Amino acid sequence: LSEQGKTSRARFRLFEDAEKGGIFTSDEGWLVAAPTSTGKSYIGIEAIKRQLPSKPRMECFVYLVPFKALAEEMYTKIKKVVPPETRVHIKTGDYDKPFQAKETDVLVATYESLDGMVQEGVDFYPTLIVADEFSIIADETRGARIEALVAFLAKQKEGTKLFALSAVLNKPEELAAWLGLKLLKGTEKHRPVPLDVECVKYSDKLDTVRRLLKEGLDYGSVVIFCYTKKSVEKACDDIKDLVLKKLSPGEEERCRIEAQRLKNDFDYLVKPPELVPYGVAYHHAGLEVGVRNRIAELFEQRVVRVVAATTTVGAGVNMPARYVIIRDVFRDRRLLPVSVAVNMLGRAGRPPYDSRGTGYFMVDKERVARPNYSDFIDKVLKREIEPIESKIPASTSNILGFILSTAARMKGVTRDELASVYNTTLAGSRDPLEVPLPSKENLLANIEKLVQPPKKPTKVDQRTLRVSSGTIQINGGSGGYLITMSEKRSTCGCWDWKRHRGIQDCKHIEQLRYEAITGPFGAKNSEARAIAIAAFKGRGLARQPMYMISQGIELLMQWEFLAEKEGKLHITSDGRQALVSYRLDMEHVRRLRDTIRKNPAARDENDVIKWAIGDFGVPALLADQNGNEDDEDEEEKDVDDGSLDPELEDALWKHIENVPYKKVVNQSNVVRFLDAKETLEQIFGAYLTFVNKDDKRLGKLIRVARNRVHYGCTKELLPLMVLELEAVSDPLIALKLNNEGITKVQDLVRLDYESFWKTTGVGPDACRRSIEQANSIARLVSEFSGLRSDLNRLAAQTEVKIDDLFDYLLPPDMVDRLRK
Ligand SMILES: [Zn+2]
Repeated sequence: LSEQGKTSRARFRLFEDAEKGGIFTSDEGWLVAAPTSTGKSYIGIEAIKRQLPSKPRMECFVYLVPFKALAEEMYTKIKKVVPPETRVHIKTGDYDKPFQAKETDVLVATYESLDGMVQEGVDFYPTLIVADEFSIIADETRGARIEALVAFLAKQKEGTKLFALSAVLNKPEELAAWLGLKLLKGTEKHRPVPLDVECVKYSDKLDTVRRLLKEGLDYGSVVIFCYTKKSVEKACDDIKDLVLKKLSPGEEERCRIEAQRLKNDFDYLVKPPELVPYGVAYHHAGLEVGVRNRIAELFEQRVVRVVAATTTVGAGVNMPARYVIIRDVFRDRRLLPVSVAVNMLGRAGRPPYDSRGTGYFMVDKERVARPNYSDFIDKVLKREIEPIESKIPASTSNILGFILSTAARMKGVTRDELASVYNTTLAGSRDPLEVPLPSKENLLANIEKLVQPPKKPTKVDQRTLRVSSGTIQINGGSGGYLITMSEKRSTCGCWDWKRHRGIQDCKHIEQLRYEAITGPFGAKNSEARAIAIAAFKGRGLARQPMYMISQGIELLMQWEFLAEKEGKLHITSDGRQALVSYRLDMEHVRRLRDTIRKNPAARDENDVIKWAIGDFGVPALLADQNGNEDDEDEEEKDVDDGSLDPELEDALWKHIENVPYKKVVNQSNVVRFLDAKETLEQIFGAYLTFVNKDDKRLGKLIRVARNRVHYGCTKELLPLMVLELEAVSDPLIALKLNNEGITKVQDLVRLDYESFWKTTGVGPDACRRSIEQANSIARLVSEFSGLRSDLNRLAAQTEVKIDDLFDYLLPPDMVDRLRK
């Protein structure tokens, strides 16, 4: 049997149950909840494969995943199993190539990018949706938005069949009922190899890891999860001698060759090529996707024997091993959720090599007796995971996102409709809102009842009130104490507050809250009131979504993100921008609007880039200083004060002058640089929405700034770079062409492929294809009708973004007409 054959046979148990249960033939949607590595994704892919032949050509199937890297993996897998003529596309970001539903059979996308399309009202009707790693709806930061999307797809979209795939869930029956899906439940018995889980209590961490490794390496490969990026790299240094001893001379040689290959392909890398000769590697968010994939490959081929990874990337690591060791059982300064720990341990045991898998999780002997630890240990051993909690009512910003995205998806909603939509979410199915919603006045009266007048009345100085970034600041009390109040935390400068460390509110905070919620300045400033209500949530208005929704609507109207017309709430164009800039929170988008509406003067696009750097973060008036007892490693804390790191800023300025970023960014910062770049692109996107449409010059400067940051080049090279030709993937190549006077698509069309090849030094095949590509773009542009309705098709066919078609390819008079 081939390896592939053995693997799929090992996966058969869950698959057989799926087949018997009629998953592939029934008209209903399904929730498949089963342990890690029981082959859930295969069921999703098979569902797509079997229903493809009966899919009408205009319709589209969608496979959703939570991570970009996973999207690429699934894209490759799906392409392999569907007939070659199937049009499979991938969408993972907001700056992708334009998407044409009518020219797509299967779309692999991240949840957020599909949500973006639904909200923009892109005209397509997915009839089958596979939602993989569905428990992502419990994620602190992304869950709320994804939950609302899934509820919408399952409940409001007629004729959409949903397959939700998830690791083991607590009460899967409840989730299936919520979404109206049938349930296929997998158990430990469905795992192709049995799994043993053990808690290892240690007094010396390093000794213990080395002991476990020494025993384990005789039987197979090992993945170790550690707390931070630094600790992951250090863990590799601590164990590499031990791993090297287990390699045969032949294996050692292979490791050296692969290390050299890694160095050749990613010449900026330092640490990983030093480790691979020992049969060791690491995997964390600081490595770019290409490197991570290579390491996963080397691990799969058993060249690399041990991989250390951060607990943060745990969910995205698809590297089954004979042993999994969770060295540090915490992340973000807290104990890991049981579900996350169980999911990581579940990667132990890889068919067909291993007959068993073993998962260890290590706990400090000193801590074992603490109640939260003993509870954690007990639950992990029993694999008793926590129920999924909806994140929609968990914070004001999640509620704001819910309101705004619902108004967008539904193309306008009444307040009562909004409440009904809320009731289709997991949060609402558990704890429904009453519909119709109580009137604004009644709600407020209810809130006011909950807020008691302070027992010791004092004065807060209303003239000093500042409201910004979700925080109220005001001087209070005769001593002029500074009070700050936000959803996360309220502080006061008075002695009383310091004595209680904020566990008990001082009289100033009580007074401020009372006045902001019931008093005149709350009535005048609904933002201050919303903040005070959010800050009070934990104490009096414990998770009462009704108040949050009602206040949220007021807030969004004040920000001009929502407008009320004939009783319906509509998203404004500003609100739409706030929604699509999902890397930025709404407060941030509001600040970007302020920057542009001040009518600033820009000499050139560099000034625009300077604004964006200045607007990069929202300076929080108050940092979240919560300490936590699980803060074991002080060695690294990703401090984020919101602004752009000077190293990254310096790299950015070089990057836009044709210097490849990998030459200027420290290797451990590559991913942070790429993230910053993406955030900047969203900031430019927001500027573009808010810029005065008559100020054509400024609009153009913003677009040039965005493109220079995106492509990493000078302005002269943009007409070539925006074509995204295969042979001109790098600004340095565009520069060579530019030096020969070849600056735009018309010049390329006149070029024969040999001189193209000589000028660029790129492989002849790529050159030939690029010349063809340029010719086809030029032809499509010249044949363009000038009709707005054909614009999307032109963008999809040329694979050039609409803004770039306008700026670099279409005749100016036509552009003026189309832009109106
Ligand atoms: Zn005080």
